[in-house]
Amino acid sequence: MSSNSKKHLGHTARKRFGQNFLHDQNVIHNIVAAINPQNGQYLLEIGPGLGALTEPVAELVDKLTVVELDRDLAERLRHHPFLNHKLTIIEQDALRFNFREYFEELDLTDSQGVRVFGNLPYNISTPLMFHLFKFHDLVQDMHFMLQKEVVKRLCAAPNSKAYGRLTIMAQYYCQVMPVLEVPPSAFKPAPKVDSAVVRLVPYKQLPHPVKDIYWLNRVTTQAFNQRRKTLRNALSTLFSAEQLESLGIDLNARAENLALADYARLANWLYDSPPEVEKVEIDDLEDA
Ligand code: SAM
Repeated sequence: MSSNSKKHLGHTARKRFGQNFLHDQNVIHNIVAAINPQNGQYLLEIGPGLGALTEPVAELVDKLTVVELDRDLAERLRHHPFLNHKLTIIEQDALRFNFREYFEELDLTDSQGVRVFGNLPYNISTPLMFHLFKFHDLVQDMHFMLQKEVVKRLCAAPNSKAYGRLTIMAQYYCQVMPVLEVPPSAFKPAPKVDSAVVRLVPYKQLPHPVKDIYWLNRVTTQAFNQRRKTLRNALSTLFSAEQLESLGIDLNARAENLALADYARLANWLYDSPPEVEKVEIDDLEDA
């Protein structure tokens, strides 16, 4: 069967659910080795699909939880001869699932949080990561297959094109490491873009805590939405030039030149001295 076929293991891939199923055993092996699941850990997979990652992980552990939106795939998993007695299947939209309620029912300790992994549907990967960051205190680590471009943005350093709001928000909560690159041929059907696996490890203590995450979201959104402008212009509705200077910001710098520590300083200043601007909602779904 060609790698462009929409049918894999008798299931027709649904584009609206971002279904690209892994079938390259080497890649699958390398991902599972990177996750390194151990019995006794709390493992949670988002989008198990036809079980490409679920099966090898379940060989190593007695139980794991999966969140799958596609009703047919959830039904298949319920009848899977070897997986069914190990799986807790949550048939829901991971974007709307209250992970906190679920995590708090587990017997988590400070040293053992939930280990989340998944070959994520690319159409929801950014909002899903933002959703999961809300539960960072209960998560031990996350391994996700994403578009390679998104992994580049997550891992980016200042002064580069890939550096943006997604970089800042991810690195605010997590240590971020690229793990491996995956070509389109590893999936059925093959996606149009390259993919990569990333590891995100939430900090036990945030290195640059802010008093209200809203202001970090707000200042980074405003700065990066106008990334070609100087910060003096891009942030003029939030700060005067004097205020920026007193906060140690070069007025001619642009959004990509500031480090996370700078943005955290700006966010905390805004919290302490809120400007007279409308407190608009920042949408996690908009391109970060
Ligand atoms: N893990 C499988 C693999 O590696 O072959 C499937 C990966 S496929 C890229 C993404 C999976 O996520 C599909 O099974 C899809 O049905 C599921 N999915 C899509 N949107 C979802 C959502 N909002 N919540 C939970 N699962 C979702």
